[in-house]
Amino acid sequence: MPLTSAPSELPEDEHDDLVFLEEPPAAEVPAASRPAWRVMIIDDDEDVHSTTTFALGNLDMQHRPLEFVHAYSAEEARTLLARETDLAVILLDVVMEQDDAGLHLVRYIRETLKLADVRIILRTGQPGYAPEIDAIRDFDINDYKTKSELTRIKLYTTVTAAIRSYEQIRAINASRRGLDQIVRAGTELMALHGMHNFAAGVLAQVARLLGQPADGLLCVKECPLHGVHELMVVARAGSFVHLDAVCLSVAHAPEVAAGLERALSERANIYENAHLLLYFPGKAGRDFAAYFKLARPIEDIELRLLDVFTSHVAVGLDNVELVTHLHNAAFYDQLSKLPNRTRLIEILDSVLDSPAREDATLSLVDLDHFAETNDALGHQFGDLLLLAVAERLKNRLDPELTVARIGGDIFCVLGSSSSVNPDTVLPLFDTPFSIDGQDVQLTATMGLVRLAEHDGSGADALKDADIALKRAKSMQRAGHFYFSRSMGVEIRERVRMMHALRNGFAKNELYVVYQPQIDIATRRPVGAEALLRWQTADGKFITPDRFIPIAEYSGLIIDIGEMVMRTAMRELVRLRELGYLDFTISINVSQVQFRHPFFLDILRNALEETKAPPEFVELEITESMAMEEPDLLIKMLSQVKQTGVSIAIDDFGTGFSSLSYLQRLQVDRLKIDRAFVTEITSSARGSSIAEMVCQLGRNLGLSIVAEGVEDERQAQILHAIGCPVAQGFLYARPMAAPALLEWLNQDTASAA
Ligand code: C2E
Ligand code: CA
Ligand code: CA
Repeated sequence: MPLTSAPSELPEDEHDDLVFLEEPPAAEVPAASRPAWRVMIIDDDEDVHSTTTFALGNLDMQHRPLEFVHAYSAEEARTLLARETDLAVILLDVVMEQDDAGLHLVRYIRETLKLADVRIILRTGQPGYAPEIDAIRDFDINDYKTKSELTRIKLYTTVTAAIRSYEQIRAINASRRGLDQIVRAGTELMALHGMHNFAAGVLAQVARLLGQPADGLLCVKECPLHGVHELMVVARAGSFVHLDAVCLSVAHAPEVAAGLERALSERANIYENAHLLLYFPGKAGRDFAAYFKLARPIEDIELRLLDVFTSHVAVGLDNVELVTHLHNAAFYDQLSKLPNRTRLIEILDSVLDSPAREDATLSLVDLDHFAETNDALGHQFGDLLLLAVAERLKNRLDPELTVARIGGDIFCVLGSSSSVNPDTVLPLFDTPFSIDGQDVQLTATMGLVRLAEHDGSGADALKDADIALKRAKSMQRAGHFYFSRSMGVEIRERVRMMHALRNGFAKNELYVVYQPQIDIATRRPVGAEALLRWQTADGKFITPDRFIPIAEYSGLIIDIGEMVMRTAMRELVRLRELGYLDFTISINVSQVQFRHPFFLDILRNALEETKAPPEFVELEITESMAMEEPDLLIKMLSQVKQTGVSIAIDDFGTGFSSLSYLQRLQVDRLKIDRAFVTEITSSARGSSIAEMVCQLGRNLGLSIVAEGVEDERQAQILHAIGCPVAQGFLYARPMAAPALLEWLNQDTASAA
């Protein structure tokens, strides 16, 4: 009677004869194609070997045949065991060379060879000779049988049970190892940037999981909604690396394509003898599938692990697209696709860490007056111009160099000093840029740092380059400037001053002085400009030109500016109480103050609390400030004007304000810069900037004031060209409040 069910299920009391299987049981996969269970027989009795193989030889367990390995002594067994792998069961004779040779061998197998999975069945010819229970437990011995007990059925049952147990142990270990590997694979994969790297990593990890060479490809397919129906290859490995088409149907791999389509439509991993089809569910209608060629058949446990792996990785495939996107957004400038500031700092750090630093220069390339071009010709045009600059820097310089864009109109070129210097970079701006059929001529300014001399991080180097750039810009038409250590010293000095300023402000070392403004025709005071002073504890005066930039830089200007505003307004109210009713106070407001989100509140509160009449308060903003962010400024100024205060443009003539722009700004007064007052006596009549400013003022209906008037002749000319009001040492120096009052009193007395 042929056995069709698992022989171990045979009732033991059935006949104990040898039974042979004529045919393998029906299974999806023929037993022959599955690896055999390997059983080792260790016995010094040759008969035992032959009867055992005879008894078990043709049998099939769990649809897999048995394969035997023979050893005839404990000694021989040791030699064989050293190189045998995948043994499922060892049938071991206890008594061989010595009475306990088998037990020693067990210890050797478990402890020395560390073969934990293999099941061991001890056999002995002498019924009375049983190993101690301890040995059975300690060495994980599956079974202990006397040889006489091992009839064919019993032998079969024992070996089958051992194989089952072996398989379970393997499965547990494999899944533990596999899950470990999956977790590790996930972590390793996440470290790979970019879809292609990630996908190649997935193939490599599948290979590692199966212990086979990577041989396959990974494709993505978008749902019809996204328009792409084709299978697009994102990674290749092994025999597929030569497949150079991106589109699978074009690559003429119809079988592969059909298999992948099947996995995609069944939304499952499919195991087909010589290959695996893996399915990775993606988000947003794009799924991934892989075709993996197998070097050997795989086991159930491996397939189950692959299920875990594919769903685990699918999340990663989705993420990697996101991460790639985020990575690009985080490290590359979206307009020019050049590295951005963050990426540049990374690159700088690695250059500073390498021998390349000895010969490297970092340079910032700032486009001059780009903001004006941008305003005049529109942002779209500005973008095209930036792109053209990016391209020229990339294409005309040594391709080895790093070109980055780190701010609106600031580019960076990093590389060997022979390629990165003003003589190679600045001439790139000699020829105009052609945008939309228009030629645009640009100039640029460079700030440079020699990295060999730099000790600090990449971010520090970039700061130094920025300092050098600012210096280059402040020196008109210098074109470039190299950072030097002494500038670093200057910076430290600035930081020191910042602390001193904060302290000084807290200790009331800062106070306000007033410089009268005079009606040139009548010589009567019509107002005063409030100017800040700082006298340190040791009696030294520090000029506003030195400490105001630091106050701005540190943000201290907000509190200091509010103090000036309130003090000046209180002084105005006091003067009014004393009868000076036609007197206007001018207050300087720096860009940092003006941009502060609470500026309007600060102004309104000051007006309200001091009860200063807004129509006698004027705010002075500089022309350079009026040039930046015109839209924001226009909006801001109209809100400021709603409070009732008026606006003057300070240092007028030094910037580039256009007429229409001035009109839109709704300013009330232009203040002619001292430089134009100084030159007024040397220029021919009708050609001075001061005179043009006066004309402009008349045309726009703005009043004019001239500052820095030092002598009578300047006052006369100003009067002649139509400037009604002047301020300067000719009339009075800036004075503290009591001195101003005294000065005003004297003036009133002399007028009376
Ligand atoms: P500014 O607003 O252009 O102020 C005029 C500067 O010219 C003042 O210098 C004043 O003392 C000086 N000056 C006045 N008449 C003459 C003259 O006849 N000849 C010469 N050679 N100079 C004259 P100061 O007080 O040193 O202020 C320098 C700058 O500091 C100011 O330039 C202003 O930009 C800034 N500043 C002063 N006080 C404040 C303030 O309270 N807030 C803000 N934000 N800035 C201030
Ligand atoms: Ca001023
Ligand atoms: Ca001024």
